[in-house]
Amino acid sequence: MKINRNFDNLVPNYLFAEIAKRVNDYQTAHPEKDVIRLGIGDVTLPLAPVVVEAMKQGAEELAHKETFKGYPDYEGYAFVREAVASYYHSFGVEVSPDEILISDGAKSDCGNIGDIFGTDNVVLVTDPVYPVYVDSNLMAGRKIVYAECTKENGFTAMPDESVHADIIYLCSPNNPTGAAYTAEQLQQWVDYAIRHDAVILYDSAYEAFITEEVPRSIFAIEGARQCAIEFCSLSKTAGFTGTRCGYTVIPKELERDGHNLYQTWYRRQATKFNGVSYPVQCAAAAVFSKEGQEQIKVNLAYYQENARIIASALDELGIYYTGGKNSPYIWLECPNGMKSWEFFDMLLQEANVVGTPGAGFGKNGEGFFRLTSFGDRDKTIEAVARIKKLLAK
Ligand code: PLP
Repeated sequence: MKINRNFDNLVPNYLFAEIAKRVNDYQTAHPEKDVIRLGIGDVTLPLAPVVVEAMKQGAEELAHKETFKGYPDYEGYAFVREAVASYYHSFGVEVSPDEILISDGAKSDCGNIGDIFGTDNVVLVTDPVYPVYVDSNLMAGRKIVYAECTKENGFTAMPDESVHADIIYLCSPNNPTGAAYTAEQLQQWVDYAIRHDAVILYDSAYEAFITEEVPRSIFAIEGARQCAIEFCSLSKTAGFTGTRCGYTVIPKELERDGHNLYQTWYRRQATKFNGVSYPVQCAAAAVFSKEGQEQIKVNLAYYQENARIIASALDELGIYYTGGKNSPYIWLECPNGMKSWEFFDMLLQEANVVGTPGAGFGKNGEGFFRLTSFGDRDKTIEAVARIKKLLAK
């Protein structure tokens, strides 16, 4: 037998293992040091009370014959899809509940969507990039082209008419750079996609962090219904990283190569996915209730304030960065032309602060560094004070 040889093309991703090793080695050599982690990509605040209550009620229904439920619908219960559609409506974007599919998260959907596309399509990703887009396409054997995100374009790469792509991954607000596309910029991508008969795979996992006038959905852009699929997640929005729930939106009219993409994705999900558990779907619907929205905003505001604290320190230090305003991520230029890992080691050893070297997200990440706002407030304040002391020297 043979295994899928495309796996040989994956670049081993040692990023988080290497970070853990360096931190561990340092902490072993200096057990008295209080190392603060500002590299964490996971949320730390608990689920909102109304969400937990809904989950408990869902579990309670499963405990009684009259209300027991077995396999859920492949596309998710109507009450959750209706809640998601009304959420979109709240920021002025109309999508039908029939265009929404509930899933166990955006990572699975972003990674699995490739099942519906031919392997001879050219895939465009931005560099730096959320690794799932690259790795899932390498596994399938697709050719990947990169759109360069640099300081010059504010880490928002724009389409190049001379480069053809069939599948385009966009993530806004972006992981790792925190940069968010404006409506005008997204319009250019949509126009490009339509001209090239391409499909945009739009990851809006961080839309809940938006504070400025930038789109929360690709479907706020004219023409997007003819060329885009959107993935979103409750992971960062409502602390569902361990609970697992997300949703994908595919306009009913979206077609390519004589096939309806909603139907094709539905068929794929019906074959390989048996849905999200009922208590979790109850919890997800509660996120979109009036009370749920109020409660999750408290947690989001906490992270947003952490981001503001980090960003304002960088402002004071005169360090270039993107993100922090519409995103939990702050992507900064390493001072004095340092490389990402050089800066990582300096920050670890001299300020006892851990971040994520930008070089781990692609070649354009070299010389950059990611800090996150998912940590504890007091620790964030302390870490920022240490960074200021170190870099103001
Ligand atoms: N998309 C992006 C850009 C992310 O950064 C993440 C998580 O870090 C995900 C998707 C994954 O989301 P989920 O937890 O819903 O799988």
